[in-house]
Amino acid sequence: MPTLEDNIRFVKGVGPKKAALLEKLHIHTLLDALETYPRDYEDRTVLTRIADLADDGKYAIRAVLGTEPKVSRIRKGMTLVKCTIFDETGSLAVTWFNNPYAAALVRVGQEYLFYGRVQQNGRVRMLVSPQAEKIEEGDDHPGHIVPVYPLTAGLTQRDLARVTEAALDAMPGDWPDPLPEVLRARYGLPDAADALAAIHRPQTAQDMRDARRRMVFEELFLLCCGLQQLKERRKVVKGIVFNRISQVTWDFWECLPFMPTNAQIKAIGEICEDCASGRPMNRLVQGDVGSGKTVVAAALCALAAQNGYQAAFMAPTEILAAQHAETLSPLLAKLGITCTLLTGSMGAAQRRAALAAVESGGAQVVIGTHALIQQGVTFHRLGAVVADEQHRFGVAQRAALAAKGEAPHVLVMSATPIPRTLALILYGDLDVAVLDELPPGRQPVATYAVGENMRRRITAFIDKQIADGGQVYVVCPLVEEGETDLKSAEQHAADLQHDLPHRRVAVLHGRMKSADKEHVMQAFAAGEYDILVATTVIEVGVDVPNANLMVVEDADRFGLSQLHQLRGRVGRGKRQSYCIFFGADKGQTARERLKILCKTNDGFEVARADLAQRGPGDFFGRRQHGLPALHVADLASDLELMQRAREEAEALLAADPQLAGYPALRERVQRMFAEREETFN
Ligand code: ADP
Ligand code: MG
Repeated sequence: MPTLEDNIRFVKGVGPKKAALLEKLHIHTLLDALETYPRDYEDRTVLTRIADLADDGKYAIRAVLGTEPKVSRIRKGMTLVKCTIFDETGSLAVTWFNNPYAAALVRVGQEYLFYGRVQQNGRVRMLVSPQAEKIEEGDDHPGHIVPVYPLTAGLTQRDLARVTEAALDAMPGDWPDPLPEVLRARYGLPDAADALAAIHRPQTAQDMRDARRRMVFEELFLLCCGLQQLKERRKVVKGIVFNRISQVTWDFWECLPFMPTNAQIKAIGEICEDCASGRPMNRLVQGDVGSGKTVVAAALCALAAQNGYQAAFMAPTEILAAQHAETLSPLLAKLGITCTLLTGSMGAAQRRAALAAVESGGAQVVIGTHALIQQGVTFHRLGAVVADEQHRFGVAQRAALAAKGEAPHVLVMSATPIPRTLALILYGDLDVAVLDELPPGRQPVATYAVGENMRRRITAFIDKQIADGGQVYVVCPLVEEGETDLKSAEQHAADLQHDLPHRRVAVLHGRMKSADKEHVMQAFAAGEYDILVATTVIEVGVDVPNANLMVVEDADRFGLSQLHQLRGRVGRGKRQSYCIFFGADKGQTARERLKILCKTNDGFEVARADLAQRGPGDFFGRRQHGLPALHVADLASDLELMQRAREEAEALLAADPQLAGYPALRERVQRMFAEREETFN
């Protein structure tokens, strides 16, 4: 008997080659396959009559084959099969490209369920390369609901269907249900085994919706239970008490080169209260890009140092760490506080010296990547930890930190603002402070979404900005194997250099050595380059005030919040800044999404629109919050259900904090929170 622990290689029809591709989708075992949900469904039970066909799109049509399929050769090696189908409302042309066998599979006079794309080609409307399924006589409800799985090049829907089928067959009869029965009854949710079967092989649309609702509830409930437990566990931990708060903050304001915003003052006030409370702080600072989160973090570092403790400031990349060190060192030096940079790419001698300073306590504020708290770096007396850019700093890491001997105060800073209701759930274990105000004098970034037809004008515009003394970022998406229509950063840089031979163009991408990356970034910041062509390594936090134009290639490939982040790289200086998104010619959806960014510069609004726009198709997508994998939960439309899940989790844990009476639930919560190690990059 196969079990769910079995490797997918042993599924019939899956060889080593397919197995390798499946592993790309994180499917190693049958259990992984079971937990890889469809990203969408094609409901082929909803039939459309030929006369009712409207816009181009995919349709299920019940029709009779009217004419003998004709096979013709159109070009070298290309065949075209043509025929006509009809129902009681009309007839429709059908074509199959490069599929001569299609002709052999259908018979004139027989009724089929056709499923495929309907296209208007000039005057003629046709159904292109449909699948045809014979309808048996007397079958009044032909068609199924067909799951659509996430794929990677080389895999087909059939491959995915095959492994999930094998996984469903391998499910033991006594499949444990993590949801307590009372909750299932209260919310009318199917049990776990039925729901899994219906997710992968729904019989009816209602089945599928019920199953999905259950999975959403389950996932949110597990999440809320886990976060709630984390929070409870911390409540009993004794925190370091920081003193001299008003003196320190006063001195801190004095040495800032600008007036803090009211939002910064308020956030720092909340942090001070936390740090004096006797419990370890666990606070998230949410603020739009450019709202000045670094200053808030610096205040915490100063507070720790003035109280005789060290602070660790973690950035997601080495470039950012270096940049934070450059900003904080002179600022904190005015208070007599020393800052030390510690990165993996430092020379051995330099690194040894830095490590020694950290261990002796000579380094008061230590700035680096996440490696700071991971790899045997010993602090003399760690009192505060700052994690910049929350989405890379997962729940598991928050938990690991809290478990450290002397529980330091933790401040996480997120640049992806989300609506408050959502924040309360996603960051259920944290207190949230919001920077809802930008420093004065910021001009909104003028944003345009353009298509390829604007290419030459944009190149000229780039040239003009440089002539006026500005600098330009050009961001390209990561290019995966086989994606030939996208330009790599390197190639794009070469093309730009060719078009603008008198300008200095640099490239920055993920495969470069850190030292090289840093060198390029520094040179760009120093004005030694005019144009920086980069992949999204520059996404977070880079601060070059003289840069005033951001161009994003293939912007339709990025999430809205990510694009907003990228836009935040400009508009930091006095110059009028611009942001140009290529990709507006990639269809209506792309254009509409990009338009949202043209209309608003407010990150919270962008996030709201982004969440609302990810329709059902994306419900099952994997995403990154640094939180446990939310396979199912749609964070915008499930707010109501989220609220319920949260209340129920709180109630259950209040009665049974260790979940002693719910072993299946306990086990799943643990697994959920252990899984996401990789988000900690
Ligand atoms: P983010 O919130 O995106 O991390 P930063 O902390 O990098 O923003 O700040 C963006 C820029 O704004 C920096 O150049 C910083 O020096 C500047 N800044 C921060 N606070 C203020 C303020 N109160 N007044 C003027 N400029 C500020
Ligand atoms: Mg920042």
